[in-house]
Amino acid sequence: MTSICVAPGKVNLSLRILGLRPDGYHDISTVFHAVSLTDEVRVTRGGPGAGRVVTTMGERVESVPSGDANIAARAALALARVAGMDDPDVTIDIIKAIPVAAGMAGGSADAAATLVALRALWGLATTDDELTGIAASLGSDVPFSLLGGTAKGTGRGEILTPVLTAATLHWVVALSEGELSTPEVYAAWDRLAESGHVVASSADVDGPLLAALRHGDPREIARHLVNDLEPAALSLRPSLRGVLDMGLELGALAGMVSGSGPTCVFLAESRDAAINLAAELAGAGVARGVRHAVGPAPGARLVLSR
Ligand code: ATP
Repeated sequence: MTSICVAPGKVNLSLRILGLRPDGYHDISTVFHAVSLTDEVRVTRGGPGAGRVVTTMGERVESVPSGDANIAARAALALARVAGMDDPDVTIDIIKAIPVAAGMAGGSADAAATLVALRALWGLATTDDELTGIAASLGSDVPFSLLGGTAKGTGRGEILTPVLTAATLHWVVALSEGELSTPEVYAAWDRLAESGHVVASSADVDGPLLAALRHGDPREIARHLVNDLEPAALSLRPSLRGVLDMGLELGALAGMVSGSGPTCVFLAESRDAAINLAAELAGAGVARGVRHAVGPAPGARLVLSR
């Protein structure tokens, strides 16, 4: 028996850092936006080794751990525990299109897809709310990977409110060499804050962005995109400045580092503008790969269960 689920990567249309919490996490206020770069997760009963075997194929997977260190395996264990199963006798295969450690929540997408696929494989009555609770225990972005669309996230990002949007947004995604670790980028932000180079945002400043999303005009939306983590990512990877400048020079409405980076994303006026921008950016040689993606995309969804 096999179930297959796909889950989207995300960009943060707004990522505001409100401050460091006593537990070491940062309180944030963000607007998540799921895009059409998706990972696929296949779960099969038994299979080779009959454990939580994880094999990963696709986009630059050398640094993705196999076995229980993979967040998909942790998702399987967490769901099995809630379902009262001792041994999740399952093989997990992941086919990645979302770049790894690149600020697009690829691991979170795999965890969300694993939860949805295993609920179907095991025929569990686990509700969506229960699944969201398990997702939040796995990582801050996992609940949004389940939900998809566009949503405001508070707390560590795990408390979600869907956002109404009239827009279909066309993105050009510029993949970078190497990875950036999310905790290291947050630590860089802390250092910049200590030295007075950045200041914490206030929680309720996204009104104009939310209004722009309701109106659906990409030009208006472009004016309100913001990522408080961008200076921290640029401090660790100054070469990203050149990628952002190139995208803007080539006609993007806006460009920013995606989440903790190092992926850079550009908003285009239309599908045609995005395809042209993607071609020109690829030709400029500033990125290791360029993709066109559309948002909002749906959250983790089952495509096969038999
Ligand atoms: P986020 O934006 O959610 O902070 P990210 O998109 O920057 O995360 P991920 O692709 O989720 O980064 O990977 C972060 C790290 O998690 C990787 O360096 C890798 O070692 C580990 N990891 C564990 N499981 C996975 C997985 N299924 N896919 C990708 N990385 C994984």
